[in-house]
Formats: sequence, structure tokens, C-alpha cells
Amino acid sequence: MLKIEHLGIAVKQLNNSIPLFEQLLNTPCYKTEVVETEGVSTAFFRTGDSKIELLEATNPGSPIAKFVDKKGEGIHHIAFEVENIEAEMKRLAALGFELLSETPKNGADNKLVCFLHPKSTNGVLIELCQEKR
Ligand code: ZN
Repeated sequence: MLKIEHLGIAVKQLNNSIPLFEQLLNTPCYKTEVVETEGVSTAFFRTGDSKIELLEATNPGSPIAKFVDKKGEGIHHIAFEVENIEAEMKRLAALGFELLSETPKNGADNKLVCFLHPKSTNGVLIELCQEKR
């Protein structure tokens, strides 16, 4: 894995959280994007070579809504950038890690993504992401 591409943080309302993180990080939100297939509305901030991704649920059935109901706002996932997402998915599946999709999905910010189930990763939701090219 190349680096931590971003940290995903679940929030109740981007409207409140975007200004808060702009102040905290001292940098403007450079992009907001809705990924309807995942039930999320996202907002991105650059922090050096990595990013922060805020996630708000777009509907009550969204995984983010469930997460916030259960655990409250907070760190939701760690995303690692990979060179070749399909090769990395194969490598991890062969080692027994549980992938949440069989093929890469379209994620926010021009990425192909795949999540690993937290039960196979010591409770941490892991996202693999590869820049679309
Ligand atoms: Zn993410």
C-alpha cells in the first residue's frame, strides 16, 4: 500500500462540520461530492500529502446513518492508496481478509474503491483506493 490516502470521518451535518474542519485544518474544503450509490455526501480537505474526507448520510438507510446512530460522529475508516486495486483485493482475499465487494466500486474523488470488513481487520474499516486512469 502506497500511503494513507485519507481518513474518513462520519458527521451528522456537513453544513456544521465543513466550517469546523476549515478552521481546524486552516485550509478550505476543495470539493464536495454526493455518491448516491453509497448513500453519502462527502467533503474533502487536503492535509499535506493526505486528505480528510467528511461523510454525511444522504438517507436513513445509509451505512453512515447507521454508524452515527450506533457510535456517534467520529473516525469511520482509513483509506490506503494502492497501485492496482484488483491485484491488492486478490492478495488480501487470499490471506483471508473479508472484502465488502467482489469488484472495485466507484468512490468519491475519482477513485475506484473496495472496503474490508472490520471484523477481519481488528475493528478498523479499511478502504483501498486507486486513482481512476
Ligand atoms: Zn473514504
